Amino acid sequence: MPIVPVMVRVVHPGTLTAPSSGRGVVGRGTARIFGRVNNGLRLMHVHAHPDDEASKGAASTAMYVAQGVRVRVVTCTGGERGDILNPGLMVDPEHMAQLRREEMARSVAILGVEHEWLGFVDSGFPEGDPPPPLPDGCFAAIDLEEATAPLIEQIIQFQPHVVTTYDEHGGYPHPDHIRTHEVTMAAVAQAAPLWQVSKVYYHQTFHKQKVLALHEAALAHGYESPYAQWIEDILRRPDDSHRITTRVPCADYFTVRDEALKAHATQIDPSGHWFALPAEVAREVWPTEDFELAISVLPYDGPEDDLFAGLR
Ligand SMILES: [Zn+2]
Repeated sequence: MPIVPVMVRVVHPGTLTAPSSGRGVVGRGTARIFGRVNNGLRLMHVHAHPDDEASKGAASTAMYVAQGVRVRVVTCTGGERGDILNPGLMVDPEHMAQLRREEMARSVAILGVEHEWLGFVDSGFPEGDPPPPLPDGCFAAIDLEEATAPLIEQIIQFQPHVVTTYDEHGGYPHPDHIRTHEVTMAAVAQAAPLWQVSKVYYHQTFHKQKVLALHEAALAHGYESPYAQWIEDILRRPDDSHRITTRVPCADYFTVRDEALKAHATQIDPSGHWFALPAEVAREVWPTEDFELAISVLPYDGPEDDLFAGLR
């Protein structure tokens, strides 16, 4: 389809523009999806790799699914160049792509979401100084237009009210995460003549305030901190808490998030530091998943606790 540039409004908390009432909430109705009552709302998460859906926003995902929101995860790449991060697993690299598909299927079932692959090839994380060039044909190296086209189709077909992605830095500087940001923003704009997404949020999963709070709580309770290896870098980062517009309480679903993450067995050590801090402690210290409202066709009325604020 032709690429049509469309202006979207980028909102900054406190300087928001007038609402356009009711847009993005058409097509509501109730139907039974996966045995649950569908409440008519649709949420699309766009992720770079299999496992990102489990490590970013997974507890709020499980909560929204339980409420009857249709949630679709769109995974841009197959994660073929991911390292094996579980020391307990021996994996033939030739089988990596197939294994990651099987892991993803388990995570999708645990979270209760719909899932689509866009079919692009993982770019890998370039390591070295200077970093090596990106492999030919990978997601971050191909034309932006080519990389965006299938997501435009996904948005027009699924008609999400809310879309999530990573911020302009990718959350962390993996080329596929930065490309996922670019592709999502372009696809939302270019789908707008046929489907206007009401809001776009960035995951702010590992912002400084939260990581420090969880790190300190882990040490205070005598657990290994999941963030011990990063803490020097994190302390040097500027405070980024002003970016958080939306804190979604979802602690009841932290254990579902952990199960989804463990489904990606090649990517996580189930006895490792990620799971060292018990969910009971995490829920006391930081019971929310946090997001930044990046685009909205609705007015922003100050701090939110729901990605569908104004849409219900
Ligand atoms: Zn990733």
